[in-house]
Amino acid sequence: MNIHEYQAKALLKEFGAPVASGVPVFEASEARAAAEALPGPLYVVKSQIHAGGRGKGKFKELGPDSKGGVRLARSIDEVVAFSEEMLGNTLVTKQTGDAGKQVNRLYIEDGADIDRELYLSILVDRTTGRNAFVVSTEGGMDIEAVAEETPEKILTLPIDPAAGVTEADCTRLCDALALDGDARQDGMQLFPILYKAYVETDMSLLEVNPLIVMTDGHLRVLDAKVSFDGNALFRHDDILALRDETEEDAKEIEASKHDLAYVALDGTIGCMVNGAGLAMATMDIIKLYGEEPANFLDVGGGASKEKVTAAFKIITADPNVKGILVNIFGGIMRCDVIAEGVIAAVKEVGLKVPLVVRLEGTNVELGKKLINESGLNVIAADDLDDAAQKIVNAVKG
Ligand code: ADP
Ligand code: MG
Repeated sequence: MNIHEYQAKALLKEFGAPVASGVPVFEASEARAAAEALPGPLYVVKSQIHAGGRGKGKFKELGPDSKGGVRLARSIDEVVAFSEEMLGNTLVTKQTGDAGKQVNRLYIEDGADIDRELYLSILVDRTTGRNAFVVSTEGGMDIEAVAEETPEKILTLPIDPAAGVTEADCTRLCDALALDGDARQDGMQLFPILYKAYVETDMSLLEVNPLIVMTDGHLRVLDAKVSFDGNALFRHDDILALRDETEEDAKEIEASKHDLAYVALDGTIGCMVNGAGLAMATMDIIKLYGEEPANFLDVGGGASKEKVTAAFKIITADPNVKGILVNIFGGIMRCDVIAEGVIAAVKEVGLKVPLVVRLEGTNVELGKKLINESGLNVIAADDLDDAAQKIVNAVKG
């Protein structure tokens, strides 16, 4: 689960990280009072969407000359004017895709005098299986480009989970970021604080880009992108309350209500599969035969008929779906339960696209019998290869 920048900053502030003062704004009419509450004379108006690259983004409604989604304002009148221009409009950035995202919230923040922009993140380092800091002096810009062109400018520092962030770790991070004086002292304090926030709230990503050195020599967290591990949210009611469902895919929200592992994708073939490995293999083979999956969906081990019905409905609700592939290997999952779920869902919502069903494993004969006797227009398949070819052919016409 992701949260907005202003929420992430409030959270980091609780842990003691240095962030600017700021006020979230939901209506343009609130912008003036928000700015008046800040010290000035420099303000920043920041679009709050769950995507990065806002500064270099453009508003669809404002055409090719549109200014970005993060703007420096030199007066309160300017704050108000920018707020009116941004709220309700659609911001397109490198990370939003062409459709962009509607800006429903702004963050009016105290402007900082920036000396240097640095990059810092904490994430899971898959090589060592540890949480790691990733830092670079090349902050404020596209870290992927830095990684590609000048990888020597990035330090990845895995943290020993038993020891936590040691003084030696902090020293290495300070050196990598070329921090001295006050900034170095700030860094020695800040790194353990960020690590604590990351671990205690079960984040899967904490990205501060940029972390800045101000002209007064001190550090400040200027941007904050946070993702939480969905599997740990049950122990953080306060964080769950920060969820902004308008930022999420409606199908994914529905899926999470039914405890389904579902990820919406851009392709045309809806997939209903049990087991993450089989789901990945199904997506791969669809691609192999020249089509793209519309989703990843793992209905899980012992799914009920109701869960299967919900899953099927989510797939059919996607207007991009031109065909559906049900691929079940019944181990714990029983093929007859899958069949019942599919039949129930089709009875409720109808079936407007071709459906290929491949069942194998526990109660497979019963499952096939139920489907055959249901009168559904189903294309039966014998194995994964056969199933993939049949659905791709059906979709291609
Ligand atoms: P994004 O990464 O989505 O573009 P940022 O929050 O990183 O958004 O802002 C983009 C740039 O705007 C920053 O790299 C920084 O140069 C500038 N900026 C952001 N917030 C402030 C601020 N409070 N004061 C001064 N400059 C800012
Ligand atoms: Mg940023």
